[in-house]
Amino acid sequence: MNHEKSKAAFAKACEVIPGGVNSPVRAFQSVGGEPIFVDHAKGSHIVDIDGNEYIDYICSWGPFVLGHSHPMMAEGALEAIQRGISYGLPTEIETRMAELICSAYKSAEMVRMVNSGTEATMSAIRAARGYTGKDKIIKFEGCYHGHSDCLLVKSGSGALTFGMPTSPGVPADVVKNTLVCRYNDLVSVKETVEANQGEIAAIILEPIAGNMGVIPPRPGFLEGLRTLCTEQGIVLIFDEVISGFRAAFGGASELYGVDPDMVCFGKIIGSGLPVGAYAGKREIMSVISPKGPVYQAGTLSGNPLAMFMGLKLLAYLKEHREIYQRVEEYAAKLEAGMRDLLTKHGLRYQINRVGSLLCLFFTEQEVISYDDVKTCDTTKFSKYFQCMLGRGILLAPSQFEAMFVSAAHTQEDLEKTLHAMDQALSACEE
Ligand SMILES: *Cc1c(COP(=O)(O)O)cnc(C)c1O
Repeated sequence: MNHEKSKAAFAKACEVIPGGVNSPVRAFQSVGGEPIFVDHAKGSHIVDIDGNEYIDYICSWGPFVLGHSHPMMAEGALEAIQRGISYGLPTEIETRMAELICSAYKSAEMVRMVNSGTEATMSAIRAARGYTGKDKIIKFEGCYHGHSDCLLVKSGSGALTFGMPTSPGVPADVVKNTLVCRYNDLVSVKETVEANQGEIAAIILEPIAGNMGVIPPRPGFLEGLRTLCTEQGIVLIFDEVISGFRAAFGGASELYGVDPDMVCFGKIIGSGLPVGAYAGKREIMSVISPKGPVYQAGTLSGNPLAMFMGLKLLAYLKEHREIYQRVEEYAAKLEAGMRDLLTKHGLRYQINRVGSLLCLFFTEQEVISYDDVKTCDTTKFSKYFQCMLGRGILLAPSQFEAMFVSAAHTQEDLEKTLHAMDQALSACEE
């Protein structure tokens, strides 16, 4: 496989963009290579500027549950553009988007649209602090909530990959109110709450962790957090930026039957355009400006084109719930095939899967928290990643990211993927 044009494009990009990319994981650094530059994508396939074609398991990190450039998504988009892309004034489509989100999540009674997942969690934390009048928050080791200062502590994939648990540039003063607990460990949370009695505004977590590989919540974990938060008057925030409208239409909240006080969205809700949202109980959301005193704003928030595309996808998914079954079936078949091959090659591994999200960990230890994730053989993963790429299978370029499946993935894709994997795993045997 020739990557000459991508190599040249990367060298050029590195001159004017830090590390040549606009988001660190894209640089392929942790898998010891250089990124491919994309020319176009269609369905389950992506084509790079050298003309190489890949079966794509990144799916823009989640949004393309129907596959790339789905014909239905293009319908009406030109008209939406021709009506004017942005006005800086309200439009009715923003209300329709908010209504749809409220219809899907019990804990969503009001919604504020923003432009990224980072903004969603940052703003939700501010609202929770304003609502409770308290400063401290609890997050979990290995959970990523975007790159805002107070949440950039022990935070998953990008930071894990680059070995920076907390970033330089974040003042210690800003993160002193961020307490970190162990994922899936309720006892660690109870102890922390006890040691900070009456001082905690919010507990934020990915109800299905997706930035240290994929880690589902253990039975009782979410329920336990719910009870604790209710007892202590703490705002429980689910960061469903990955899992929302992806793991199920109603996300982890629906899958596990636990309703937080606030919920954050991103990725899929813009169907590939830059959109985020945070939602919550009416009483909490009412603190937000201009209804309440907690300031939060955005020039392009609720952008009509982004709303048009996002709403189109979500409304379609609402009407076609069978899509979730279809992607899950593919993911389950893929998982089964992978398990057979890994056994055949005598490799030690774990696979975690929730719906259409799955992750292969090169470790023999059951993966339920960040401590387990750290035991992964990342050198082996890099080898596996490169072999797969060379055989036309595009995985997320990090051990700590999920594989995303779409409804556009076919039986032929599945067979090709497993065939490539058989060869790639041979290379991983020692
Ligand atoms: C991607 C992600 C974010 C950040 O979203 P951006 O749009 O990249 O700012 C926040 N939380 C979770 C769980 C994510 O996966």
